[in-house]
Amino acid sequence: MNRLQMIQQLTTQPIWDVCIIGGGATGLGAAADSASRGFKTILFEQHDFAKGTSSRSTKLVHGGVRYLQQGNVKLVMEALKERGLLMKNAPHLVHNQKFVVPNYKWWEGPFYGIGLKIYDWMAGKLGLGPSQFLSKEETLQLAPTLDPDGLRGSIVYHDGQFDDARLAISIAQTAAEHNGVVLNYSRVSGFLKAKNKIAGVQIKDILTGKEYEVKSKAIINATGIFTDDVMKMDDPHHHKIIAHSQGIHLVVDKEFLPGDTAIMIPKTDDGRVLFAVPWHNKIILGTTDTPVNKSSLEPVPHNDEIDFILSHIGRYLTKDPQLSDVRSMFAGLRPLVKGKTKKTAALSRDHLITVADSGLITITGGKWTTYRKMAEDVIDMAIEKNKLPQKACVTSELKLYGHDQPCYPATSTALEDIKKAVADEMCMTVEDFLSRRTRHLLLDAKSALQAAPQVATIMAKEMNKDDNWIEQQINDFTRLVKNYIPSSTLKHLLRSHSDKL
Ligand SMILES: Cc1cc2nc3c(=O)[nH]c(=O)nc-3n(C[C@H](O)[C@H](O)[C@H](O)COP(=O)(O)OP(=O)(O)OC[C@H]3O[C@@H](n4cnc5c(N)ncnc54)[C@H](O)[C@@H]3O)c2cc1C
Repeated sequence: MNRLQMIQQLTTQPIWDVCIIGGGATGLGAAADSASRGFKTILFEQHDFAKGTSSRSTKLVHGGVRYLQQGNVKLVMEALKERGLLMKNAPHLVHNQKFVVPNYKWWEGPFYGIGLKIYDWMAGKLGLGPSQFLSKEETLQLAPTLDPDGLRGSIVYHDGQFDDARLAISIAQTAAEHNGVVLNYSRVSGFLKAKNKIAGVQIKDILTGKEYEVKSKAIINATGIFTDDVMKMDDPHHHKIIAHSQGIHLVVDKEFLPGDTAIMIPKTDDGRVLFAVPWHNKIILGTTDTPVNKSSLEPVPHNDEIDFILSHIGRYLTKDPQLSDVRSMFAGLRPLVKGKTKKTAALSRDHLITVADSGLITITGGKWTTYRKMAEDVIDMAIEKNKLPQKACVTSELKLYGHDQPCYPATSTALEDIKKAVADEMCMTVEDFLSRRTRHLLLDAKSALQAAPQVATIMAKEMNKDDNWIEQQINDFTRLVKNYIPSSTLKHLLRSHSDKL
């Protein structure tokens, strides 16, 4: 998968079958679905693949225990089926994760135990292992840092865990394997219309400034939190259909939760589920649900969200994580389909497909876990609207690119891994490498900052770039890192890197 070759293919088709706007889970999934059905497919992403929400999830492939609490049986059933398919088709990036739900009150054992038995039953043959009741001693063997004071026991259950940005790249490569064209750093800036019907898109190459026009039979808007902006580009009278909800995560060292078992707290003060999950040898703590009004590719955690996570998780662990223990933090914005309630935690995670009078097809909402089904539904919709001939979806049996290969380590700075990312994974910037080809920035922001000069130098050699490019890349990355480090740690870093930050 090489960007220059992708650009050269832009002009090979006078008219494409399917053009997708947005290179997150939803858009990339649609590209892989469409290309694997044999449609001539092209996708445009304004920044890097998965730069938006799709690299900022809790990294769970799950049915969603809390949607079960809300009574959304259909959503849970669908997600559990997709969880099973993803484990089969992307075993290189998804694995079985054990969770304990600690019980401190007498009723929690039977209450959550019955709920999780239903969850097992709903997963049917695609289940990842039966849930079990554990004694206090058995619980502490699995999660030795759980606060033993008042602990009665726990329930253990299984869900999937994955690497979101790596999965996005694997899906992009799967689309490319089936002759799909996927382009990062290419913004859709307008639509081509004929008799008020949408006929194509105008593209700006963000790296070169060049502009292109591309015609297509079906055009799909899969732009997550930017859904309304793209719909407005099509129809200036469009009324918003998306609400944004911010969720943040804090990353701390493994000592706060040694072993392989995650903790799930079913109910926080604002009625949310709180997770502490091992990931690439660190622990992810999250998340929050804060309504926000602004779309941003680089949302920043709020201080009250950080306090909320630290204070809540501290109640369940023997050693309370402090702000100074946070190695990295990251925020993501959920694109939620607007409902009648103002409380975003209660809005549906279900997806929505709409078709505008112009013919623009929009898909939004949903979750990472259900990306394949969302893709199937949106391409089926294009067929139903007679934009494409009937061809069956094949992705439930489609192994994703790299399924038989190990991935490189999540904080690698090895020469061969940087070379591979540049040559095969359309890695164009230091941020792409340190944030989404590896996960260095999300795991340990300070260490990622220290690695930036070495990565920039190797990338420059591979990409034939000069010293100015190296300097610019390091400066850009240094500015970005500020969003991933709590301000008190940043002040400390400022003293040692005062010339850079
Ligand atoms: C805090 C948090 C935790 C979550 N945890 C989980 C989880 O554990 N499991 C799970 O299943 N789901 C989870 N989700 C949900 C999941 O991450 C999202 O549903 C999913 O990533 C949305 O993908 P998307 O492709 O629709 O949006 P995005 O990933 O945001 O992709 C949209 C893309 O469109 C691009 N774009 C916008 N405008 C243009 C344009 N004009 N031209 C070209 N490109 C454009 C953007 O740059 C962006 O990359 C979580 C979400 C959040 C916020």
